Amino acid sequence: MSAADLVVVGAGAAGLWLAGSAAEAGLQVLVLEKTARTGTKVLASGGTRCNLTTTLGPKEAAALFGRKAERFLGPAFSTLPPLEVRQRFSQ
Ligand SMILES: Cc1cc2nc3c(=O)[nH]c(=O)nc-3n(C[C@H](O)[C@H](O)[C@H](O)COP(=O)(O)OP(=O)(O)OC[C@H]3O[C@@H](n4cnc5c(N)ncnc54)[C@H](O)[C@@H]3O)c2cc1C
Repeated sequence: MSAADLVVVGAGAAGLWLAGSAAEAGLQVLVLEKTARTGTKVLASGGTRCNLTTTLGPKEAAALFGRKAERFLGPAFSTLPPLEVRQRFSQ
């Protein structure tokens, strides 16, 4: 067994994203998941169809959630647009 540079506890959306990014940066990553399957909630998204995002642009996607949520989601979607999320999960 080799030593890990980074231990990620929980293989959900956040943990898998972090683990992938850290591995790409050259770190040895160990992911610990307490259940038998990784990414369970990601797979359950969109009524179990795993349609976790959209093909819309950042502004259009944020607008779907109403004016109040749009103010919160707008900057987040601009920083990481839905199409980049799709490409990342495809990888
Ligand atoms: C039925 C359902 C449908 C959804 N649909 C959508 C949707 O359509 N669109 C959308 O954007 N979002 C949707 N969501 C929400 C989305 O799935 C969550 O926001 C997202 O999964 C949260 O990611 P996370 O990494 O923060 O947490 P989680 O996905 O909960 O991941 C945490 C992981 O850590 C593990 N863990 C916890 N404690 C320990 C421990 N002590 N040791 C080891 N492992 C541990 C858990 O087992 C889990 O795998 C849905 C959620 C559900 C439940």
